[in-house]
Amino acid sequence: MTSDATSDAPTVASENEKLRELITSARFVLWDFDGPICRLFARHRAEQVAADLVDWLEGHGLRGLLTDTERETPDPHVVLRAVGRRRPGSDLVAELEERLTQEEVRAAASALPTAYADPLIRTWTAVGARLAVTTDNSPLAVRTYLDSRGITGCFTPHVYGRTEDLHHLEPHPHCLTRALHAMGAVPAAALVIGDAVSDLTAARETGVPFLGYAHGETAEKRLRAAGAAHVVRSLEPLLNAVRHHRPYGRP
Ligand SMILES: [Mg+2]
Repeated sequence: MTSDATSDAPTVASENEKLRELITSARFVLWDFDGPICRLFARHRAEQVAADLVDWLEGHGLRGLLTDTERETPDPHVVLRAVGRRRPGSDLVAELEERLTQEEVRAAASALPTAYADPLIRTWTAVGARLAVTTDNSPLAVRTYLDSRGITGCFTPHVYGRTEDLHHLEPHPHCLTRALHAMGAVPAAALVIGDAVSDLTAARETGVPFLGYAHGETAEKRLRAAGAAHVVRSLEPLLNAVRHHRPYGRP
């Protein structure tokens, strides 16, 4: 029996074909940052950053602004969003956002690149795709990281990140819409690569096709359960597809 005759071979082949189609029809690629491009808090731990933000709030007598669950969260964005909801537009939110930005910039200096992300970004750019970063992280942190990898030019000037308007964070489609407008892209010609359900939701809201990147099985299950039709566990098949794709706009 050849491998072609095994029962799951046609499924795998058609999955690969769909993936190839998804990738080669995207002229504009909107990348989430933390996950698909790098692991931002690989060494500078997110848990510690979250705990420091909680301590800072408590030090200012604002312990009551957070629920018990929020005080225990390992995710600094949970702390920021919670305060953003309860004190929208305040100086407090602006200062907390600034503190998180500083921590993200520090984290960017020791972030770990996602496997195959750098060559994929370079190759996709070389064949004529236009790339953007669309993220809930600070654009300063994104630029710090991209500079450290020498790939800033692949995205310039399209880096769209968190602003002080916290209600615009994903799943709000604001960031994707900003990128599409700035790039002059119609949603159907674009592709979102993200690792969170909020990325998927924002992509759906804007009508942009979505490709999930999942670091592990749990993340893949979460994305699929939320309805993601395409999820990869590695960026390698994307790199292979892009390498064999003829340049956009050339016969
Ligand atoms: Mg992410």
